[in-house]
Amino acid sequence: MKLNYLTAHEILDLIKENKTSAQKVYKSVLDQIDNSEKAIKAYANLAERSEISIDENKPFPIPIAVKDNMCVLDQETTCSSNILKGFKPSYDATVIEKLKDSGAIIIGHANMDEFAFGSSTETSCYGPTHNPWDLDCVPGGSSGGSTAAVASNQAIWAIGSDTGGSIRQPAAFCGVVGLKPTYGRVSRYGLIAFASSLDQIGPITKDVEDSAILMNIIAGYDPKDSTSAKPEDALFLNTLSCRDDNYSHSCDLPDFTKALVNDVKGLRLGIPKEYFIDGIDAEVKQAVLDAIERLKDRGATFKEISLPHTEYAVATYYIIATSEASSNLARFDGVQYGLRKIPERPRKSSIVDMYEETRAAGFGTEAKRRIMLGTYSLSSGYYDDYYLRGLKVRTLIKQDFDKAFKEVDAIVTPTTPTTAFKIGEKTSDPISMYLSDIFTISANLSGIPAISIPCGFSRNNLPIGMQIMAKPFDEEMLFRIGYTYQQITDWHKKRVNL
Ligand code: GLN
Repeated sequence: MKLNYLTAHEILDLIKENKTSAQKVYKSVLDQIDNSEKAIKAYANLAERSEISIDENKPFPIPIAVKDNMCVLDQETTCSSNILKGFKPSYDATVIEKLKDSGAIIIGHANMDEFAFGSSTETSCYGPTHNPWDLDCVPGGSSGGSTAAVASNQAIWAIGSDTGGSIRQPAAFCGVVGLKPTYGRVSRYGLIAFASSLDQIGPITKDVEDSAILMNIIAGYDPKDSTSAKPEDALFLNTLSCRDDNYSHSCDLPDFTKALVNDVKGLRLGIPKEYFIDGIDAEVKQAVLDAIERLKDRGATFKEISLPHTEYAVATYYIIATSEASSNLARFDGVQYGLRKIPERPRKSSIVDMYEETRAAGFGTEAKRRIMLGTYSLSSGYYDDYYLRGLKVRTLIKQDFDKAFKEVDAIVTPTTPTTAFKIGEKTSDPISMYLSDIFTISANLSGIPAISIPCGFSRNNLPIGMQIMAKPFDEEMLFRIGYTYQQITDWHKKRVNL
């Protein structure tokens, strides 16, 4: 098998046994990029090859793609938006600093929906990314460039961000593993904000083992991010919301690889009835039910549970997320970052005209739609009816999970209602696009960790993902269940030949 088809843990083993080198692995990834990037378009910007250095002595010299919304020192970082063209950050995001320290090789910024607004990577100013399993289909979004890079073996690892499903949904569409950690687990410092109370950075990998390894590198308290969790916060959260008699989970930052245990005997898993609704693709449903049977064979017990406020999740999310986005995007006005349009003939005042022309030219349609929606929800007279009410429903959704986790250790659902759809199929219908996150959004609203793991393929050879959700700060539960599942199945071993 080609080196770039391997997982990082397989590569690291080979390096340890002197059977390969980081240089050779890097070269195999570059060859793949030369061969297939024209068809996939996973990258927004590739780093200059002459500027990349490889340190064979560092512990993790693994080629990685990072989503185009994470600041990399002196590397153009644009959120795949015209408004940030030319913006070169003067610092590294905390995750980038940690990756560089570990020896990871940042090969480029991966394509994404503009400012992470979307579920298909079609709203990027660079044009769409294509799904490696079917080039006519979307890779999902908004981290579709990151998941497509890993699925097409154009990177061994990737990093994405997930505000309402943007790691898990494209991971499901591309047949890779995507984890949204607990809110606060990974620093957001240097992540260009979409919705600050929902955004989390997480790993995108070929298997669960790599996901745990990458989490060990990127997770941890960061004083530069005021919402980053200290170990005592974790203790507080667990005690407050969902501690039960059987729950003796350590609250310190764990070694996530210790959770890679091939054993689910006695675990109590919940199947929420609201997630197996009409409208879900029959093949997706069957694949997840089959996965549940496999876990039962290994001694896990399942019971039906209810998350009764699920039906309000999408509406609640689009009020809260657009409100926060409209506020976060106010900073892009032509003064400090990227694009600046100088009006030829000022109408009002030169500064106001400059703001307006810059924003009119720099933002795409979906970004403008979200800024308008969010500004409306936050405006006086509507704030109470929309934003405030959204926050109240968010609490109800969170309480559904608190209640469920008194009875079960984790919750299993499909990641998405369908497999990848065709490019262009949903671009003119924003509501149907918004509904593709129906199963992923609740985890962001309640802050809990959730992972998507490949669990099958459709008749059209498109990947299917299973989502597992756990209590706050219990990523270890996700790794344990996911690892056990991958010991008895091969879905994660399928590779695209490009
Ligand atoms: N697809 C969702 C949205 O459009 C989620 C995006 C995300 O998680 N960044 O908002």
